[in-house]
Amino acid sequence: MEFWYTEEWTENVRFSIKVDQQLYSKKSDFQQVDIFESQELGKFLTLDGLMMVNEKDEFVYHDCIVHTPMCVNPNIKNVLIIGGGDGGTARELSRYSSIEKIDMVEIDELVVRASQEFLPITASKLEEDSRIHLYFEDGVAWVANAKDETYDLIIVDSTDPIGPGEGLFSTEFYQNCYRILSKDGILVNQNESPYFAHNAREMKRAHEKINRIFPIAKVYQAHIPTYPSGHWLFGFASKTFDPIKDAKVDEWNALGLKTKYYNTDIHVGSFMLPTFVKEMLEDA
Ligand code: SAM
Repeated sequence: MEFWYTEEWTENVRFSIKVDQQLYSKKSDFQQVDIFESQELGKFLTLDGLMMVNEKDEFVYHDCIVHTPMCVNPNIKNVLIIGGGDGGTARELSRYSSIEKIDMVEIDELVVRASQEFLPITASKLEEDSRIHLYFEDGVAWVANAKDETYDLIIVDSTDPIGPGEGLFSTEFYQNCYRILSKDGILVNQNESPYFAHNAREMKRAHEKINRIFPIAKVYQAHIPTYPSGHWLFGFASKTFDPIKDAKVDEWNALGLKTKYYNTDIHVGSFMLPTFVKEMLEDA
């Protein structure tokens, strides 16, 4: 009998993947954690029935969420990841020898342990790189308790604004992010899709809140086939840097990092938004 994983993108749209076998299934204190194996996408992790990562397109998301801010300031030393339990964001950051410390604050230990067991493609660096410090805590409380100007970069690699991820889309959370960032600090967040109404609503809300707090708040996009609609957005906010004018293109290229999605042309292009997204943001 065929086994299909099916995800509801909206009440009227579903996305399905033919599955070879289910490798893992557990309910944590926070969410339902499942890992499947498929021919088309390789292994993939879902939380509460939503795609988080898969072996086929994870590189797009992780390239965009890490290399975009690192090109704007390749001298970042202290990084905070909120969420990111599959380890892909930490893996990309660990490629920068200039980074001194990466605090990763993930609410759900089960996501990390399951990823370490079944998804070494993303989780491999979590044990290997001694600059990565793992904390199993709520990111909302972490930023509330952190000292002023502790981090140069905060990456919010979160689930959607429901369940444990909800507080990571609040004004108070973004205010604390601003406070604990250094004077030229950068905040990057996964910011949903502009396409389907419920995702677009969350995206606008998050942008509106960040825009009120940070002097520079922009949105950039990527094509991620397995996220709802395939059209995904990220937020870039900074105290001083404009993501295009201040991008250190030559410096970043001189690092010689081999990437499968990100390059410095994509960097500039990703901030060029379609008209319907621009209009949504103008309204926000
Ligand atoms: N790439 C993914 C996406 O956009 O679908 C995100 C992947 S990562 C697995 C998201 C992580 O955020 C999950 O492991 C989840 O447990 C974590 N998370 C959710 N709420 C959190 C919170 N309040 N504090 C820390 N981590 C949180």
